[in-house]
Amino acid sequence: MPQYGLIEGGGTKFMLGIADENAVISARLRIATTTPGEVLSAAIAWFREAGLQPAAIGIANFGPLDLDRTSPSWGHVTRTAKPHWDGADLAGPFARTFNCPIGLETDVGGAALAESRWGAGRGHNSLLYLTVGTGVGGGFVHDGRLLAGLSHPEMGHIRVPRHQDDQGFAGVCPFHGDCLEGLASGPAIMARWGQPLSQLAQSQLPPSETDDPRADMIGWYLGQAICDFQAIMSPARIVLGGGVMDTPGLLAKVRRHAHQAGGGYFVGDPEKLVVAPGLASDSGLLGALAVALATG
Ligand code: ZN
Repeated sequence: MPQYGLIEGGGTKFMLGIADENAVISARLRIATTTPGEVLSAAIAWFREAGLQPAAIGIANFGPLDLDRTSPSWGHVTRTAKPHWDGADLAGPFARTFNCPIGLETDVGGAALAESRWGAGRGHNSLLYLTVGTGVGGGFVHDGRLLAGLSHPEMGHIRVPRHQDDQGFAGVCPFHGDCLEGLASGPAIMARWGQPLSQLAQSQLPPSETDDPRADMIGWYLGQAICDFQAIMSPARIVLGGGVMDTPGLLAKVRRHAHQAGGGYFVGDPEKLVVAPGLASDSGLLGALAVALATG
C-alpha cells in the first residue's frame, strides 16, 4: 500500500508522521520548532531512517505561505514575523530528496480537508473550518477541494460590528486593529482581561454557570462572523476549533449568536450546523495526509 510522509508545522512544534491512504498512522515524531534548516533536515533524516519511499508528502504548515504553483516562491513561507522563518522554503528540500509530489497547505486548510474527509464533515458536500486561538483562520472545502484564489483565504481578518460593551478596545491585529482576529483571538482576550477565556470562565463562576459576559462577548463576535460566512458560502457544516473554543459553554454561545445575527433567514439547524471538531488526536497529521492525498 502506498505510504505518505506527513509534516504538521506549528509555531512551537513540528509533528512528523507516516501513514497509508486509509489514515492509519504507523509512525510519528515530535520535534521542536527551531530554525528551518534544523527542522527540515531532521524531518528528512527521520523519513530516510524509516525507509520511506513516499507516494506523496503532505505539509500543513503555519502561514502565510505562497501556494501559487506558478510562482517561483511556491512552497515558501511568505512574510512572517516569526524569527528565522520569513521566506523559508518548506517544499523544496523534500521535493529534491524524495522526488515525489509535494502537497502544501496552511495548517488551517489541512484541518479543513481532514475534517471534511474523516471528521465532522463526513457525508456533507461542504465544510467551513474556523480555528480560534493565537490567531483566527478559516478554510472552506467544497466537494473535497479547498477554496483558494490568489492565495489562501484570510478569514480571520474580516471586519465585524462592534459589541456594545466593547467600544473602547482598539483590537490587536497589527494590520487592521479591530478585525475579527483583532477582537476575538487569544491575544485579544489576553489584552482585554489578562487571562485566557477558559480560565476566566472557570475561576470566577460556579461550574454550573457558563454565562460569563466576557465569553458571551467572544461568542457574539464569532456569531457575527459565522453569519457572514453563511451568507457568502452556505457551508453544510461549520467546525470551530482552536484553544479559545475549549472554553466551557462557548460553542453554545456562538451558535445562539450566529442564529440571532442571521435573523432566522438561513437554512440549517444551528445545533447540527455549528459543531466541535470530529477529529481529536492526530488531527494535524491527518490534515497533512489529506493534503498529500489531494496532491499525489
Ligand atoms: Zn486583521
